[in-house]
Amino acid sequence: MLMRLSQEYFPLLIILFIKLKIIKTLEDFHKTRSAYGQISFIPTMGNLHNGHLSLFNTAKKLNKPIFSSIYINPLQFNNKNDFTKYPKSLDEDIQLLESQDCECLFFPDESILENLEIIKAPSKADLLCGSHRPGHFDGVLTIVNKLFSIMQPSDAVFGLKDYQQYLLIKEFSQSRKLPINIIGSKTIRENNGLAMSSRNTLLSSDELQNASEIYKSLLFIKNNANNLSKDIIDEVRKSLYKKGFEVDYVSVINSITLQESLNHNNEEGYLVAAIAANIGSVRLIDNLFI
Ligand code: AMP
Repeated sequence: MLMRLSQEYFPLLIILFIKLKIIKTLEDFHKTRSAYGQISFIPTMGNLHNGHLSLFNTAKKLNKPIFSSIYINPLQFNNKNDFTKYPKSLDEDIQLLESQDCECLFFPDESILENLEIIKAPSKADLLCGSHRPGHFDGVLTIVNKLFSIMQPSDAVFGLKDYQQYLLIKEFSQSRKLPINIIGSKTIRENNGLAMSSRNTLLSSDELQNASEIYKSLLFIKNNANNLSKDIIDEVRKSLYKKGFEVDYVSVINSITLQESLNHNNEEGYLVAAIAANIGSVRLIDNLFI
């Protein structure tokens, strides 16, 4: 009798212990979403690390149920190889999301690409990463917009590591008058300063050590904040080349316009040092507010 009871109730027990709801279809998602009021949303492409988890700490302060998504967005990759080799670790991700008291994981399939409104990103998207990855931010905004319309969050948290992405999403949300508070969350680094990134798992241990040169370069620029010049920026670029990096850009920019700016000149916003560089085929980005 006891045996039969425990067998009958086993699925229920599992549901009680595993709080995270994992949802794949829009239909199921809408049913779940309708049971909640305001929620905070954290979109990701999975292969979660402490950088992602810090976004949950930021979201927890808002005291709303946290919904997350894992979707490797094909529209934001210009390089097919980069897309296919993007690291995946769903089982570990689910465990991490549970440890973060995440309420619901939306894990859509390619049907999310149906009936898409294609967003054309504004001209700021052509600077920095956009100038090396044409169409990248169109792809980002198109999927983020779709996820926002599905999730209907009141807050959404993004990492400042991807500063240009954060700014474009914030300004997109404002331009559409979406009732979503877009929150930037600080960059989390390894002990050697390297910004955490899913792509770091594609680096060898020597490359991981070498990759910290990006952060050291940003610090060097910050330490020279009072006498920045094109020569100093060139020096940083050359030194990264010598250390084996294929450099996309080393720039000091204004945090609002994203235009190059070597001194503050009483402009609105802050100066930000930003670097994108490749080690082999792995592209890394980082930035530091000056
Ligand atoms: P991704 O899975 O790479 O699309 O990243 C999902 C979110 O995590 C984005 O908002 C990223 O900016 C953020 N993120 C990624 N790495 C870090 C990091 N090291 N520190 C803070 N946020 C991060």
